[in-house]
Amino acid sequence: MGKVAINIATGSLLQEETIVGIDLGTTNSLIAIVKTDTRQPLALRDIDGLALVPSIVHFDQNGNTTVGNPAKELLVAEPERTIYSVKRLMGKSYKDVSKDAGFFAYNIIDDDTDALVKIQVGQKFYSPIELSSYILKELKHRAEHILKTSVTKAVITVPAYFNDAQRQATRDAGRLAGLDVLRIINEPTAASLAYGLGAKQGTESTIAVYDLGGGTFDISILTISNGIFEVLSTNGDTYLGGDDMDRVLAQHWNKELGMPDSDKSAMQQLRITAEEAKKHLSGNDNFSGTINGKQVSITRQQFNELIQPLVDRTITACGNALRDAGLKKEQIDAVVMVGGSTRVPLVKNSVRDFFGREVHDELNPDEVVALGAAVQADILAGNNTEMLLLDVTPLSLGIETMGGLMDVLIPRNSKIPMKAGRQYTTQKDGQGGMRISVFQGERDLVQDNRKLAEFNLTGIPGMPAGMAKVEVSFLIDADGILKVSATELRSGVAQSIDVKPQYGLTDEEVEKMLLDSLTHAKDDIKTRALVEATTEAQQMLDVTEKFLTKHRAVLTDEEIELTNQRIQILQQAISDKDKDRIQQELEILNDISRPYAERVMDAALKDAMKGKKVI
Ligand code: ADP
Ligand code: MG
Repeated sequence: MGKVAINIATGSLLQEETIVGIDLGTTNSLIAIVKTDTRQPLALRDIDGLALVPSIVHFDQNGNTTVGNPAKELLVAEPERTIYSVKRLMGKSYKDVSKDAGFFAYNIIDDDTDALVKIQVGQKFYSPIELSSYILKELKHRAEHILKTSVTKAVITVPAYFNDAQRQATRDAGRLAGLDVLRIINEPTAASLAYGLGAKQGTESTIAVYDLGGGTFDISILTISNGIFEVLSTNGDTYLGGDDMDRVLAQHWNKELGMPDSDKSAMQQLRITAEEAKKHLSGNDNFSGTINGKQVSITRQQFNELIQPLVDRTITACGNALRDAGLKKEQIDAVVMVGGSTRVPLVKNSVRDFFGREVHDELNPDEVVALGAAVQADILAGNNTEMLLLDVTPLSLGIETMGGLMDVLIPRNSKIPMKAGRQYTTQKDGQGGMRISVFQGERDLVQDNRKLAEFNLTGIPGMPAGMAKVEVSFLIDADGILKVSATELRSGVAQSIDVKPQYGLTDEEVEKMLLDSLTHAKDDIKTRALVEATTEAQQMLDVTEKFLTKHRAVLTDEEIELTNQRIQILQQAISDKDKDRIQQELEILNDISRPYAERVMDAALKDAMKGKKVI
């Protein structure tokens, strides 16, 4: 349903291609477009009227794939050939997901814990990227069938907390499915776009987007003013969603049923019945059904009690997001409900009570993200010039400087796309290279943060220490992918890399890093002070020792002995890691050696004067 243009020269019709919006979800995926005639976003539906495609891939004995509902039906019968929740594995190593391995009924390969995970089905191995590409291919085919035109360009959404590796993996999955991924956008941003909130010129509003899906929870605070979206803060838990509700209900039932965890097929059936019950309870007060021939039942009241702790965790995160944004509940103008799990009455009521206002739930909560992606696609197609998007970085980005300190170039929650740069210099005379180590995290010492990449800037021409001017710049593009470059400004020597880490952080790790930065804030300040004092002292020692060898002649034996003594005391203070003593001794050594330096300068001056005739 793209634009139709006519080539004036040939008189032929040019079909301009529609750019589609795709929500590649943990549980469900779907595709949407903006209709040219109505200018409204629309989820594409099959002949049965269904828009959601379960994000499930089944492999038969020959390795042929089936995606969506037919695959979902095989979950119980063939758990080892039916892959679900693959989004949880995107951009992750086995180590990242090992603690959740029990959650997956299929086989995750664990031979190399640091490498990206692989999934074994029969004799074959698949990466999460490949598995996701099957889902995207299915969506592409579906759209082509419905639109009767080829579909090759897409906008795909990801959770706000997805890191570089996960975004890159999503982009790769798109490419593998034959899609040119024009933009990766955050799901809450897409949801706001779908509601068209604040899109009118001259309006400004602050919006909370509460997204509880099958596997992830995100709360985002956005402001929208004059059609410009800005994310003020994000918070959440990518291991919290409807799946967890299913799990607590399944565990509740299995206390009576006593089926062994090792019976994977029984576990799957338990899980599916639990989900069925949960959905039923969104509109009814009771559920009863059977699992392996045994009767199970649950009331909404009982269910609410089971899931209360999960809902409470989302509400706590809402408070944290508000705090990060520096806002009070009363300053929120609208609350948007996203994700199938927001259909649970307890969830909706809890969010409404927390924010003290009615929530937006007019659009299908499991479709809004795809609808928003379609709106973004429409903007990229040039059909909608009223809106602009800005996202934020979840963690600070910086490089390692002297003494292992983290020097932040782009602080956490910065808007992207974003560019930042800073100048550094060499520490040694004639230093020909400089190592640029890129880190992500909130701690003062790089060892507590996560290394993203490292490269050497080589070929810096020989210059005295401190003369070279190395400009390091960070560029985060609109997809949240980081490019780092370093240039020595005097010589023009340059080097750059795209940061595509081997595997990413789990969202839990991101949260842990943020939490650690708060709990360790005091320690960090202390350590930073110690590192700075040590670095300064070491430089002083270097200079002094050099001086002693070079200008021995201008010093008396006593002076040399005294200086060596103070050098030793300072070295002791350094190895004792005693910041105050380091600073004290540094002062003393400085006071002793300053007159020596003056003496050398005087001597040099006298030398210089010798050659001149004074009339
Ligand atoms: P994701 O974004 O993770 O792909 P969705 O937004 O599609 O997920 O939400 C999927 C979750 O919503 C599943 O856990 C599903 O069980 C739940 N869900 C769907 N419909 C209902 C309903 N009527 N009541 C409660 N939960 C529902
Ligand atoms: Mg979702």
